[in-house]
Amino acid sequence: MDILIEKSVEILVTGLVQGVGFRPFVFRIATQFGLSGWVQNTNENVRIQITGKSLNINQFINNLKSGLPPAAMIEDLSVKEIDRSEFSGFRILGSNDISDQITEISPDIAVCHDCLEDMNQPGTRHDYAFVNCTNCGPRFTIIQDLPYDRAKTTMNSFALCPDCLAEYETISDRRFHAQPTACIKCGPHYELVAENISVSTNIGDILIHISTLIDNGGIVLIKGLGGMHLACDAFNEGAVSRLRELKNREGKPFAVMFSDIDNLKLYADIDPLEEQSLTSWRRPIVLLKKKIHLTPPTLTSGLNAGLDLLGVMLPYMPVHFLLFRQLKTAAIVLTSGNFSNEPILIDNQQAIKMFSPHVDAMVLHNREIYNRTDDSVVKIMAGKERVFRRSRGYVPTPVRTALNMEGIVAFGAELTNCFCVGKGHKAFLSQHIGDLQGIETTQFYENTIEQFIKLFRIKPAMIAIDMHPDYISTKTGLSYSNLPIVSVQHHHAHIASCMVEHRLDERVIGIALDGTGYGTDGNTWGSEFMVCDLNEFERVSHFEYLPMPGGDLAAEQPWRMAIASLYQVFGADLLNLEIPFIKQMDTDKASLIIQMMAKNINCPLTSGAGRLFDAVAALLGLVHEATFQAEGPMRLESLVKPESIDQYSFTIDNTIQFQSTILGIVEDITNGIQPDTIATKFHNTIISVIFSCANTIRMNTGINKAVLSGGVFQNKYLLEGATNLLEKNNFEVFSQASVPTNDGGIALGQLAVAAKRRELKCV
Ligand code: ZN
Ligand code: ZN
Ligand code: FE
Repeated sequence: MDILIEKSVEILVTGLVQGVGFRPFVFRIATQFGLSGWVQNTNENVRIQITGKSLNINQFINNLKSGLPPAAMIEDLSVKEIDRSEFSGFRILGSNDISDQITEISPDIAVCHDCLEDMNQPGTRHDYAFVNCTNCGPRFTIIQDLPYDRAKTTMNSFALCPDCLAEYETISDRRFHAQPTACIKCGPHYELVAENISVSTNIGDILIHISTLIDNGGIVLIKGLGGMHLACDAFNEGAVSRLRELKNREGKPFAVMFSDIDNLKLYADIDPLEEQSLTSWRRPIVLLKKKIHLTPPTLTSGLNAGLDLLGVMLPYMPVHFLLFRQLKTAAIVLTSGNFSNEPILIDNQQAIKMFSPHVDAMVLHNREIYNRTDDSVVKIMAGKERVFRRSRGYVPTPVRTALNMEGIVAFGAELTNCFCVGKGHKAFLSQHIGDLQGIETTQFYENTIEQFIKLFRIKPAMIAIDMHPDYISTKTGLSYSNLPIVSVQHHHAHIASCMVEHRLDERVIGIALDGTGYGTDGNTWGSEFMVCDLNEFERVSHFEYLPMPGGDLAAEQPWRMAIASLYQVFGADLLNLEIPFIKQMDTDKASLIIQMMAKNINCPLTSGAGRLFDAVAALLGLVHEATFQAEGPMRLESLVKPESIDQYSFTIDNTIQFQSTILGIVEDITNGIQPDTIATKFHNTIISVIFSCANTIRMNTGINKAVLSGGVFQNKYLLEGATNLLEKNNFEVFSQASVPTNDGGIALGQLAVAAKRRELKCV
């Protein structure tokens, strides 16, 4: 009987298998099936050698695949028979650093149920805010180098006490080799820093103090997993507006943390997929539809700038759970601890220096944050979780491709920057860096590039950059070294990013709808219909150019784009239109803009879809000057009524022209048609344009795969509408999910294009 024959095998496992409780899991099932041998972490993989009956080995392998711990993920598992070895029992061997290959690093994992339970029990983890185990806790934020061992994390300054050490060494324990494990006696602790109060490290006292402050309208800074947060009562109008002033953040919506899912459901509509994202171990901010909530308490209107969306999350650190136990309020604003446009703060001294004059208390801890992360942001669209801001809980999970991307460093775009490094067939996209505009963000950018290169043992061999000569990211890439450089058109990079996410390496129809990106004709692009592969693209059509009076200023002041779009239809007569937008307009200002366009002074051309959305939003009076990025398009989307199918007319020849659309909108406004109807008709028009163009390209080329990318596809109605219409007409449609469709995904596309050109020897 073959199955009873004793043999030995070696199993190599790659994927997310370190720092997620994988080895104790292997130990458990090996013991369960009476197998002897060992398991070991290396840089490349997890190695297992076992001896036992064939039957038991097969059962072991099946369990290995099917019973994984929550955050673990197997990419590849190979089994080969080896010479029969005798082992005594099953052991976990020390880590072995064997080469420059790397295993994956786990993202940070929300505190697990078992650890929350430990906090309720008497003992050294009672109310302990840094409780963790092999299934949960900090990972990426504390890791300094590989392989993942305590000595290479910021926990290396805390020596394990005898009790913790015993757990750490006991294979059957939940904290066996839990690198960040700690207890009240030996681990990190919180400290209260507040005026007129002597520094306190008693967590009970700290929580009572800060929860009283928050419940009474105070603002508290709390050090978290990947950076500092500012917190205040989400129901307190005064506190929220004070927080806005403090952060110097005019209109951008704030995220809210609810005490639990039941309270959350009172304030937001939520479907099963949204609940799944909210409660997952990644614990992101999820953008949900705000409920009309009439009975008090109501969330302050200042939270989300009057939009119909609300960014919400659930507690993910032990301290969040402890805090809500004390708080009377069921929801707090939890926003990154920084001033507008600066990266989230991670350093205690800097936080004290910058924020002590402005907040009512600060709660800091002494575990150093090595890799800065923000809260991630996702939205469920077309039945899938779509990552808008990719950071805590998601980074540094790689994107796997068939391309060899070894040594390529892609520097990304200017706004919403992420960069990307290539290691073999894996692309590691950085955490959300932010807008490369201030010195602090630029420094964060440069430092993190260095950290990634070191952490993932990259030997830079090629640089990929955007074509825009003035992007900080482009300049950083150019000054990086004298390696070969691949410069990639912005919208080609968007489409390539989506292609790589779906492992497409062929000719496709690429539809990039976006704000701005540098075009090969020197104009600002942003509504590109292309036929492309990973190497090159042909721009087939685009929205007809509109002048941007005042250049970049027109992106911040949508009213300028509204004048520009009216000018294309009515010329200077636009001043006589009987619509509120014109009647309320300062005539001198409008005349100046008209003159600029007539004489072509400082009026660069744009085909950016975002600018057209801006124009329509301004025409409807939804926005005049934007107080945050994409405010116009977001307000427009907020009004959409899904049941309406009406649309405006448009013209397609070489380009796509919207004069008749604008004319229709002006007529509707004049006739007193409601803004929500107009917004819906406009969205339907764009969906129709996407389909018409894709269809024409398919007829001319026979290509049936439509790839959608660019920031405009963060619009749920548009993405779902376009996807449905294309699929109904038998297109295969691809859109981004685990990689941002906004400029945060650009670097991945740049990396892929560079890898492809290297493969084809075009560079
Ligand atoms: Zn745990
Ligand atoms: Zn301890
Ligand atoms: Fe873009």
